[in-house]
Amino acid sequence: MEYVAAKTTICRQCGRSFSPSAPKLGPKLKDESSAPEEVPLHRKFEAIWSRQHNRVVSCFECKRKHEVSDAASSTNCPGCSAHIDLRDYKITTSFSRTIRTRGDVHLTTKGDLSSTSVICTTAIVEGKLRGNLECEDSMTINLVGKIPGRIGAQHMVVERKSDIQCFRRVRVTNIDIKGRMSGEILASGAVTIHKGGALDGNVTAKSIAIEKGGMFSGQLVIGRANLTQGELLAEAKAAEKKAESGVPLSAAQPLHAT
Ligand SMILES: [Zn+2]
Ligand SMILES: [Zn+2]
Repeated sequence: MEYVAAKTTICRQCGRSFSPSAPKLGPKLKDESSAPEEVPLHRKFEAIWSRQHNRVVSCFECKRKHEVSDAASSTNCPGCSAHIDLRDYKITTSFSRTIRTRGDVHLTTKGDLSSTSVICTTAIVEGKLRGNLECEDSMTINLVGKIPGRIGAQHMVVERKSDIQCFRRVRVTNIDIKGRMSGEILASGAVTIHKGGALDGNVTAKSIAIEKGGMFSGQLVIGRANLTQGELLAEAKAAEKKAESGVPLSAAQPLHAT
């Protein structure tokens, strides 16, 4: 398996150039990992169209989308009539109630969020996070400390001054690591370790890029991120058998990087 691709790329986040190490996936892996995550074009236009005073929210229960006013603090799904919270939460003291909102959560430095379950659109984490936190969109972590709960987001950013220890597997589409992080990452997209960033832990991802000045230690599996590592290894063995009968081998293998 090739690890570092030849071309140099400019990082869209910080403008530095780096060599992306996104190994080419075999046809089999590629087909199966291209999950239909793309937003349909008309939805994108819908979002642009309604940006000024309205937004489109999806139901937590039936996933049906409908348009709501930016000013609304809650709505009911026209499909199943379920209540949908639209409020933003700013956590400045201890807070333990469950949150499920299409709004945003800001856990401030003095906040202490111990809710078992928090589901929101975007979150900024600067304070103590004890429970689980799931972001439909982005999660920005600016924290020095332990994160014992399950966290997940479409796009996660571990900011420059962060130093976090994640005890549970972190699930993301993409993650940008600019600070220090330890923990296991499962990414259906890309893991990027920026200059000054350090990751200590195992990674299963579609691709990984480590900029000059970024550090990674742990095992790396490039391939189907929706499988556990055990399943990946089993699949690698199956691919090996196929390879014997003439099919090109494209299974990912764990490797070490420093
Ligand atoms: Zn960068
Ligand atoms: Zn619904």
